[in-house]
Amino acid sequence: MPEINIQIPKQLINATRFEKSIVIDGLIDVLGLNKSKHIHRLKPGDGENKIIAELENKYYNQLWKRKDLNEMVLKYITEKRLLKKKMSDKDVDKFQVFLAKLFGIPVERITELVLKSFLVGAMVELGEKEISLNLANLPKSVRDAIKQGKLTWEQARYINMAEHLAVEHIRGISEAAQHRLREMLINANMDGISPEILAQRLFEQFGDDSMLNRDMERIAITEMNSIANAGFISGVRDGEYVVGVSHKDACGWCLDNINGKVMKVIDNPPPEYANLPVGSDKYQSIAKIWDTCIWSTKTNIGRSTAKRKKTEHGYIVREHHELASPSVLCHANGRCRWVHFYPEYMYIENGEIKYVSNDEEDAERRKWLDKNPQLK
Ligand SMILES: [Zn+2]
Ligand SMILES: [Zn+2]
Repeated sequence: MPEINIQIPKQLINATRFEKSIVIDGLIDVLGLNKSKHIHRLKPGDGENKIIAELENKYYNQLWKRKDLNEMVLKYITEKRLLKKKMSDKDVDKFQVFLAKLFGIPVERITELVLKSFLVGAMVELGEKEISLNLANLPKSVRDAIKQGKLTWEQARYINMAEHLAVEHIRGISEAAQHRLREMLINANMDGISPEILAQRLFEQFGDDSMLNRDMERIAITEMNSIANAGFISGVRDGEYVVGVSHKDACGWCLDNINGKVMKVIDNPPPEYANLPVGSDKYQSIAKIWDTCIWSTKTNIGRSTAKRKKTEHGYIVREHHELASPSVLCHANGRCRWVHFYPEYMYIENGEIKYVSNDEEDAERRKWLDKNPQLK
């Protein structure tokens, strides 16, 4: 069967491949044609999520060469016979230097991955998804990205900040791991244990189920997703809409506050309102912006998903400015994504994105719009 080639309507030029495929499917149905096998049906966010997952993995591997790490630590300790004698201060100092080298942060690789995640996010919006699928083609530095016209100065500034933050987070976790390793060596020496037992302890500390491993995963997921979402949002024009897409196994807060939630993208964040009298008109109007709008630097830092907080007088209800809001990244470990929302031919039903393809659905959309008059 010949492949069907249908021209995409102009307003769909910036749409994701999934959005395009829905329209194409609709047209094929209307025309009574068979579906081409070459048109893939993607769930919203799927394509990007795969690329982001790939970046997450790379980032995690950069951070954490767990197997090598255990082996190298053991080799060092055995060679220096550190478990066989009373250690001197100098031995401990040398071990510290050895660890610092072993954990040396590949800053260039980390910043490169931060940039790539941002670009993947931004390119989804720019309709360059096909190109972004090939990570090797993406620029490696912010400077190259600007040269290639893939970034504005505003975006470059943001990425730079995100890179510093990523390196800082990694440094924190790497220092914690080194501290733990030094502590383990000192304890092992004191206990007079064998290298085999130390190997066992190392495995417990750094194995799959260890706290440190979970921290490494959390950081990789958090960094890559927040920067990709920020990249995407920064590519959406002021006044346009996005909708949140959560994985099925997302937490309750995300399913209630992100999944299927339509937000207006604005360039300029609202002013700070934490110090305004709660309930004042000004406070309420800024709170409303937080509830309905998103901007590329919007975060939940300092806010909580828990409705109540503990004080010396018992539990009290948090004020609006203390509560988490649908943001670029909802919370640490968050895998939720934002995709473009076109009120002209999309609506939400039970948290799912629906596309207008016939009169019946159009009636559903009108009903939904009546409940969401701000989108009319
Ligand atoms: Zn969540
Ligand atoms: Zn989430």
